[in-house]
Amino acid sequence: MTALHGFENLALPDTILRAGDDAITGTATSVDIDPCTGDAFGDIPVASPADVDRIVDAAWHAFRSPAWRDINPLARERLMHRLADAMEADLPRLAALEALDTGKPVAIVEAVDLPAAIAWLRAYAGWPSKIAGRAGTLSATPGSYHVYSRREPIGVVAAITPWNFPLVLAMWKIAPALAAGCTVVLKPAPETPLSALRLAELAREVGFPAGVLSIVTGDGATGAALASHPRIAKVAFTGSTATGQAILAASVPDLKRITLELGGKSPSILCADADLATAIPQAAMGCFFNSGQVCYAGTRLYVHRSIYDQVLEGIAAVGASQKLGRSADRESQLGPLISARQHERVSGFVDRARAAGIEAMTASSALPRSGYYFPPTILRDVPPDAEIARDEVFGPVLATAPFDEIEEAVALANDSAFGLAAHVFTKDLSVAHRTAAALEAGTVFVNCILLADPAFPFGGVKMSGMGRENGSEVLDAYLEPKSIVMALA
Ligand code: NAD
Ligand code: MN
Repeated sequence: MTALHGFENLALPDTILRAGDDAITGTATSVDIDPCTGDAFGDIPVASPADVDRIVDAAWHAFRSPAWRDINPLARERLMHRLADAMEADLPRLAALEALDTGKPVAIVEAVDLPAAIAWLRAYAGWPSKIAGRAGTLSATPGSYHVYSRREPIGVVAAITPWNFPLVLAMWKIAPALAAGCTVVLKPAPETPLSALRLAELAREVGFPAGVLSIVTGDGATGAALASHPRIAKVAFTGSTATGQAILAASVPDLKRITLELGGKSPSILCADADLATAIPQAAMGCFFNSGQVCYAGTRLYVHRSIYDQVLEGIAAVGASQKLGRSADRESQLGPLISARQHERVSGFVDRARAAGIEAMTASSALPRSGYYFPPTILRDVPPDAEIARDEVFGPVLATAPFDEIEEAVALANDSAFGLAAHVFTKDLSVAHRTAAALEAGTVFVNCILLADPAFPFGGVKMSGMGRENGSEVLDAYLEPKSIVMALA
């Protein structure tokens, strides 16, 4: 095993070394690579179909076991809070594992990812004692029947997650699923399994019964075996549109319940009256944060023609001010892309845009010598039908164009297969509300960016997904209503 740059004293989760009850016995492995250096630092087991079968069976039995099924709601809340306490106590190690695995600056992981994951766990830990059905009155024969509904956990949940916010996106699924009383088998992305493995260790330490939260490490084939397993009742997925479609297709034989949080090409409209001192850095970081590896990044920017040049200069200055650096370096503001494959993919988009005659401006101080770093890049006067205006890049690449009338900007914004988020920057309340209503997106941000919270639903319209995470709405994905009709006669 190669030395871990800057994280030399970090203990990797034991499960990687194949300890524990649900150790993976398959002999295949994938290499975990530090994106800041390109060096391999560990071998991650790839679960075989037999491993998946055994782990899902254990989760299926755990779902039916009195140890989990009959635990009272307050005790389930306490267990979830205990896991949150354990994550807080373990924060430096969890953050270091996540930073090493993703290449993100560790200071950002400590300030953003870990607090978010813990906040979600605590927010949904408040639900078990509040989940309730309702009473109803029959329309035609109200006096003759007593009708009520129960909300019952759906069963074993497969959570399948990507590499851009590994712990956060896993927790968006795990927290509501556990609150509902489900059991969960999580398959993290092959690039970033470490935080999930550590989370499962902590869950065991604080007393979650065996099989309630398990991890299967592996690749797309492992994910496919998990998603199509007959004992999985529901799949919660975040990732690419193509994989989401494959999971939906595979769900048909068993009619599994599916939620899909897929990608986007989220537009931002920057009006002439916007407060440029805040709108420019927000429009810039809405695209460049996490090196553009954000599902709801604002990657298409429409700017009023009267301020187009000024805004682009401002955004270039914000890009150039960002320090690209290693994950262990506390001065770093942007990390590398996750892999050589993603670097090639993002470079390909920019190269093809340039070849098509689109002007692309690189806004970066200096790129580290090794690793998969990609500079913030701004493209000018991008035609609406250009590939770079239509496809998700998943890199710090901003496609811009000027507009004259707000109606034109809304039409440009809505001219997309995707609909995850949209943004409008204006001081005019009337424009803000009208535009928010007209934009085809699951979330519209007015004069702000990149906010998600357990308080409100998040998800996509059109090709950006199906169903919602977060809010109280996400609980519907993990609970089945059951109606009980009692004759009173
Ligand atoms: P992916 O969708 O293929 O992978 C996401 C997860 O799904 C991983 O855990 C993967 O192992 C698993 N998976 C792959 N094939 C599967 C299958 N057939 N059945 C079940 N699970 C399967 O994404 P990727 O290949 O890592 O990235 C490709 C592109 O996806 C990126 O360039 C980006 O555009 C997009 N992406 C979007 C998000 C998001 O947050 N919406 C996150 C990561 C990537
Ligand atoms: Mn990794």
